Amino acid sequence: MGIHDQRLIETIASLQDKPAKLLIDGQWVDALSGETFATYTPATGQPIRQVAKGGAADIDLAVTAARRALEDGPWARFSPFDRQAVLLKLADLVESNWDQISLIDTVNMGNPITRTAAAKRRAVGLLRYYAGLATAIHGHTISTSQPGDPLAYTLREPVGVVGAINPWNGPIGMAIWKIAPALAAGCTVILKPAEQAPLSPIFLGQLCLDAGVPPGVVNVVAGLGDAGAALAAHPGVDKVAFTGSTGVGQRIIQASAGNVKRVSLELGGKSPNIVFADADLDKAVPAAAMAVFTNSGQICSAGTRLFVEDNIYDEFIERVADFTRSLKVGDPLDPETQLGPVVSLEQMERIVGYIDAGRAQGATVTVGGGRISDAGLENGYFLQPTVFSGVEDDMKIAREEIFGPVISALRFSDIDDVLRRANDTTFGLGSGVWTRDITKANYMSRRLKAGSVWVNCYQIMDPAVPFGGYKMSGYGRESGLEHIEEFLNTKAVWIA
Ligand code: NAD
Repeated sequence: MGIHDQRLIETIASLQDKPAKLLIDGQWVDALSGETFATYTPATGQPIRQVAKGGAADIDLAVTAARRALEDGPWARFSPFDRQAVLLKLADLVESNWDQISLIDTVNMGNPITRTAAAKRRAVGLLRYYAGLATAIHGHTISTSQPGDPLAYTLREPVGVVGAINPWNGPIGMAIWKIAPALAAGCTVILKPAEQAPLSPIFLGQLCLDAGVPPGVVNVVAGLGDAGAALAAHPGVDKVAFTGSTGVGQRIIQASAGNVKRVSLELGGKSPNIVFADADLDKAVPAAAMAVFTNSGQICSAGTRLFVEDNIYDEFIERVADFTRSLKVGDPLDPETQLGPVVSLEQMERIVGYIDAGRAQGATVTVGGGRISDAGLENGYFLQPTVFSGVEDDMKIAREEIFGPVISALRFSDIDDVLRRANDTTFGLGSGVWTRDITKANYMSRRLKAGSVWVNCYQIMDPAVPFGGYKMSGYGRESGLEHIEEFLNTKAVWIA
């Protein structure tokens, strides 16, 4: 354990008091099978809590509860203003419990405690933004060409029972990202958090109850992939909102076919971050590094393919390497730490496998390149932030999502050539352009095939700005007005 042993011990102890059961129909219950699974802290590899292991039978109970809440429960009679009030109360509770929430995520997932202010702004902001939108949902009146001038108008209705399946890389933020717009739209939800970091989503379930969300409206069923699969296939679920890997996303599309569910998918990425020679390099250097190293590289839109213009390439990579050497990796509870561990042993081994593949295919490790086994960190899943230079387009580290602190730096000399190479990927989530030339910035922004283009910045997110993928990074948008559309149906009414 690191220098904050005492705080870690206290946090783990306090977690024992929190319900680690399933939240179904407003009750904290054990899994029907009676089974549990262990969840760990990646800083030390220690198990910290047993969690009820939901399976298909528990998902079935939760779907029944969510359906009843949708159709018969008090939720069905909540006006948009009532839903808004509940969401605002939930925002207040998340805000006032934030220290506890961020400690849970730091311990359970390894995200440095220093990132907590930004995470809080985002989580609370999402709840307040969608609280605002709850009262702004409305249809249209439409003039038609029909004889007799019938009245035509549209009603916006909740899509129904939503299965929300999440990954582990932003446990509380991802949970709120799906629950907030779903509740604003009037849906009911079964949340299946990731098995690696289920504790803060479970805590959020309690806050939903405390905020006055009626029983069955938000159900939290932690479990492994089979629980997610049961949700994706369940005929009582109207929509699946999934964030995770592209492979599982494809399985969700197949599973959804049974009852033709609505599906939205936020999947993987291999995003290009393109630095032109005329950029403000003092800004671009640290930003290019943190476009990947934030959250130890466990961000879907990380700018992992760093394209740098030929005439500044060597200098730029050396400066990124210097910046990387200055980063403090360590105990995520230490307020000095900038990079914590990656989430699990399995994830660490995957990333090390990619680093080995990069070396084997001839790329040069400019900085980093392995596990950190310093005293105090040797049992955790700590990796050196790594910069590969001399990367070629066809190398594994330039094509596949690593989901770890690894930059693959590539050289370019021509704007159309870099565009073609940037777009030559099955993914299309994020992209970055660094230049002082607005014409070049516009040219690139229109041609990059990605759901987000960041110019002279990277990874800025806001509750009001839509985020999502092109191509195999998925479909549907989260955040912004677009996100609430994902949870609404449109009904056309004709009155003759
Ligand atoms: P994952 O796909 O392995 O798991 C995600 C969730 O799906 C987990 O809750 C898991 O239990 C569940 N699951 C597993 N098998 C399932 C099945 N057959 N049916 C239904 N659910 C199933 O992903 P992960 O390893 O937890 O997360 C990393 C991936 O998530 C990366 O690819 C990353 O890019 C992606 N991600 C994308 C975004 C985005 O917004 N686009 C955000 C974060 C993470």
